[in-house]
Amino acid sequence: MSEYVAKLIIIGSGPAGYSAGIYAARAGLEPIIISGFEIGGQLTMTASVENFPGFIEPVSGTDLMEKMRTQALNFGVQIINDRVTEVDLSARPFVLSTENGNCCKTQSLIVATGASAKWLNIKTEKQYIGKGISTCATCDGFFYKNQPVAIVGGGNSAAIEALYLTRFAGKVYLIHRRDALRADSILQQRLLQNPKIEIVWNSVIEEFIGGQNITGIKIKNVLTDERKTLDISGVFLAIGHTPNTELFKKYLTLDDDGYILTKPKSTATNIEGVFAAGDVQDNAFRQAVIAVGSGAMAAIEAGRFLAAQDN
Ligand SMILES: Cc1cc2nc3c(=O)[nH]c(=O)nc-3n(C[C@H](O)[C@H](O)[C@H](O)COP(=O)(O)OP(=O)(O)OC[C@H]3O[C@@H](n4cnc5c(N)ncnc54)[C@H](O)[C@@H]3O)c2cc1C
Repeated sequence: MSEYVAKLIIIGSGPAGYSAGIYAARAGLEPIIISGFEIGGQLTMTASVENFPGFIEPVSGTDLMEKMRTQALNFGVQIINDRVTEVDLSARPFVLSTENGNCCKTQSLIVATGASAKWLNIKTEKQYIGKGISTCATCDGFFYKNQPVAIVGGGNSAAIEALYLTRFAGKVYLIHRRDALRADSILQQRLLQNPKIEIVWNSVIEEFIGGQNITGIKIKNVLTDERKTLDISGVFLAIGHTPNTELFKKYLTLDDDGYILTKPKSTATNIEGVFAAGDVQDNAFRQAVIAVGSGAMAAIEAGRFLAAQDN
């Protein structure tokens, strides 16, 4: 494998990676997906997806990603379960190294490595991921109709998601560790005027409590050390995402938050032949259906790039 030069390698097996693989395989580009160790990507963390077009009944994230994987395999995509540890994008063919030594040289590359939500890393957090803890209000807010929920954060994302949650939830606690928000003042005004929102200042979550699902959170006031329990059915973390771009920052132009910059209406990066799709280049929406769309764009653009090289 080490001397083989692929036409197209796709890094990542989330919605963007599989979609790129399906489009590229159907275009005869013989794509190889290097899946990473989070096979299926972020969507596998959610028990129920209701907004993916074409699925009339809710589908588990794992089932949806398994279907995409099967569809990709059916079109002949080669999937290697390995993780890219190093890239050299200074000249074509691009050179990739992987953890298990599987890889590779390629004429073109699609980066679809996603973005990882930041977690609080406190007691019982892992146990309740997908059972009351979510990092995506747009995705999971709908499941909390008339129920009390909490959201953690103090920036624009937390403010926007708190306001969004008031469409469904009966009550929204916004937990913030400081005495002032970083969100834009217009958003702050809307938060303060919304009767469903209660801002819990200077506070952090110490523990998640419940049985099978979350039923409450223990919070601590960081100024007074006072502790109390809030009864809630869901907690949304809006403390930021880290795009998985560490490997590429030497070569690819990133925005201030570390997301790969792509050309307008395109997935092309600053390096010819390297494309970026999905959350890794999407600082605004981070949704599966959008990742799938940009994966398709990246495959089409990679095909055009390869065709131009042949002429
Ligand atoms: C809890 C939760 C619920 C959600 N619910 C919904 C929903 O209902 N509807 C919706 O539209 N969206 C939902 N989303 C958002 C959706 O999951 C993301 O927008 C989508 O998964 C992004 O796809 P992606 O392919 O860009 O990246 P990801 O899904 O993040 O996949 C990234 C892939 O890159 C791989 N990778 C990373 N680094 C490397 C490396 N070095 N080498 C090789 N591979 C690598 C990983 O293994 C992974 O396979 C939800 C997200 C979360 C967290």
